[in-house]
Amino acid sequence: MHRRLLLCVMTAALAGGAGCAAREPGEPLKPGFNMFSKEQDIQLGRELSRQIPQQYPVVRNEFLQDYVDRIGRRLAQQPGAENYPYTFTVLNQEEINAFALPGGPLYVNKGLIEAADNEAQLAGVLAHEMAHVALRHGTSQASKANLVQLPAALAAGVIDGGVAGQLAQLGIGLGAQSVLLKYSRDAEREADALGARIMASAGYNPIESARFFEKLEAQGGARAPEFLSSHPSPGNRVRLVEAEIRYIPSGRYGYSTGQFQQAKNTARSIQGVQAD
Ligand SMILES: [Zn+2]
Repeated sequence: MHRRLLLCVMTAALAGGAGCAAREPGEPLKPGFNMFSKEQDIQLGRELSRQIPQQYPVVRNEFLQDYVDRIGRRLAQQPGAENYPYTFTVLNQEEINAFALPGGPLYVNKGLIEAADNEAQLAGVLAHEMAHVALRHGTSQASKANLVQLPAALAAGVIDGGVAGQLAQLGIGLGAQSVLLKYSRDAEREADALGARIMASAGYNPIESARFFEKLEAQGGARAPEFLSSHPSPGNRVRLVEAEIRYIPSGRYGYSTGQFQQAKNTARSIQGVQAD
């Protein structure tokens, strides 16, 4: 413990006071260093979410939307989700992926719904994304990028009412390698841990999320699912989640809407990109 503390102090000194991100199972999960306010996270997410339908095909299916909303709202009510204004959108893409924008907009590809074995696995991915939002990983990473112009850009965003435009001028946007969307292994470890807590308190067995990630990793190789490139494995995912679960008050994990199979069939039946 002392040795780790000393390492943290040294790391913090070398990194200019960014602090120590490493965390042991069961320890509290809190957002790290951040130059954005919570309100700016929410504003940025709202602004960026307007660009999404221009870049990705959105599934417009009432049943599927309602299904994902029901799971998402249940997760959003749990303590670790921190009451952000979450929204849930299914994208008409086969790649196994999901992502979240700062402040609450969550996106899940229909291909991920098809790849999940049960509702708890889908809920686990949503809870993992929610954890990235609640722990403010995207804007924390942008803050740590040492952009000297960032404080001025954020202040200007307050005046002209647009954060996304100011950040775009600094090269921070929605690209595949965006600092807002591609997380460090430490951030993944935290999102796995908080996601497990959120899904457990919603009544889903948290081990299912670890099982799903393992299944995706097993597919590996050149065809590694998209999810793993934007959410790199922290290593020993199952072991880490199992370690975290020991600190979660044991509950009943029998919750399900009972409509997973219908949702999976619906996702399968949706072909190609639908015209808007
Ligand atoms: Zn992640």
